[in-house]
Amino acid sequence: MIRTRFAPSPTGYLHIGGVRTALFSWAYARKYGGQFVLRIEDTDQERSTQASVQAILDGMKWLGIDWDEGPYYQMARLDRYKAIADQLIAEGKAYYCYASKEELDAMREAQRARGEKPRYDGRWRPEEGKLLPEPPAGVIPVIRFKTPHEGEVTFDDLIKGPITVANAELDDLVIMRGDGVPTYNFGVVIDDWDMGITHVIRGDDHVNNTPRQINILRALGAPVPYYGHVPMILGNDGERLSKRHGAVSVLQYQEDGYLPEALLNYLARLGWGHGDAEKFSAAEFVEWFDLAGVSHAPARFNQEKLAWLNQQYMKEAEPARLAELVQPFLAGQGVETAAGPELAALMPLLRERVGTVEELADAAHIFYRHGLPAEAEVKAKLDPAALPCLEGLRATLAEVDWQAPAINQLLKDGAKASGLKMGQIGIPLRLVLFGTAHTPSIDATLALLGRAETLRRFDSAWP
Ligand code: GLU
Repeated sequence: MIRTRFAPSPTGYLHIGGVRTALFSWAYARKYGGQFVLRIEDTDQERSTQASVQAILDGMKWLGIDWDEGPYYQMARLDRYKAIADQLIAEGKAYYCYASKEELDAMREAQRARGEKPRYDGRWRPEEGKLLPEPPAGVIPVIRFKTPHEGEVTFDDLIKGPITVANAELDDLVIMRGDGVPTYNFGVVIDDWDMGITHVIRGDDHVNNTPRQINILRALGAPVPYYGHVPMILGNDGERLSKRHGAVSVLQYQEDGYLPEALLNYLARLGWGHGDAEKFSAAEFVEWFDLAGVSHAPARFNQEKLAWLNQQYMKEAEPARLAELVQPFLAGQGVETAAGPELAALMPLLRERVGTVEELADAAHIFYRHGLPAEAEVKAKLDPAALPCLEGLRATLAEVDWQAPAINQLLKDGAKASGLKMGQIGIPLRLVLFGTAHTPSIDATLALLGRAETLRRFDSAWP
């Protein structure tokens, strides 16, 4: 059975790039009826936080990237790593290294001075006939893996194609630190092995680690999984995606009022494509997905495309669902909705002009708050010629059948009778009733606001 995984380090928010890789890994498992494992790589004790773990879990749940197993935590598996490291030592495949940091710094410095690439020189590596120094007293050693000097590692990357690295290029990497915590390359190997991962799909910032990991797996006699290294996501300017480009945290998109299905759809399109399909469901994505379709070049994050998709999804979302999403935004803004029109009823009208749930909430304000326009705006936009007509409208509005078409007719007739254009009364009317000239069509807006509230606003705001 195919088993894939997502193995984030909980050292910050759930990054757009990370979750896109998770999405590909998840889709691969789902497509082939396999399983998807979540593993938290929390060995960097200084930088790992519980808040970050929570952000990972929340972000994945929000997007609907569900896992079949886990989350596993590496810090709960220290005994296992130690047992394997001890076994490698016993088999002569790993060794203790007592070199101090100062010593290693000096070694690298000398190598650089000679124009060489800095690498561990094997000073504690046991070899036949080699006399090792006495371990210095009081020094806690690290454990290094004995990388073969000869041969090479070849793997057929599912995205990048065949990759070969000569072992002579690699040095003896540290697999266990002095404090008993494994390094990334060791923990990941033991875990992928123990968890039966068949396809390691991850960011291509790890492609150089893969030959090292394969060497360790070989030393353990463990099966080597398939690897697929997904190219990075860049900002629109071609630089690595960072905060400079706007939000890079998945949950920030939730906070900013994006729909999860829109973000998921957009992320799926980043570096993968199915013909020219732009908008598709998670189920379609899973059906169409394959690693062969993943681009070899880095993808560029395009905020406008995401906003466009979000708009499309908002247009087809159930009004009740949108209302539920809008409510917390309004509550956060201190807008009381209980006394006004039903929120869901506003959604079909308001969503026509906005790109996010947050903007939808902003657009809903006018129904619950009678803002008064700035004096300057009134002066600039209130056509004195329209005043008598507006005053007359109060009486006819009190009588009219309260439906958008009838209201529209009434406004048209009123304007015509005064020799005015619709715009000449539409804008002042909006200013007076809503405190802004920017609302959806006035008849539909009034119909939703209700007669009683419309008249009340007339009475309280009339100049
Ligand atoms: N914890 C590693 C990271 O977040 C995982 C890399 C991997 O998938 O092997 O970069």
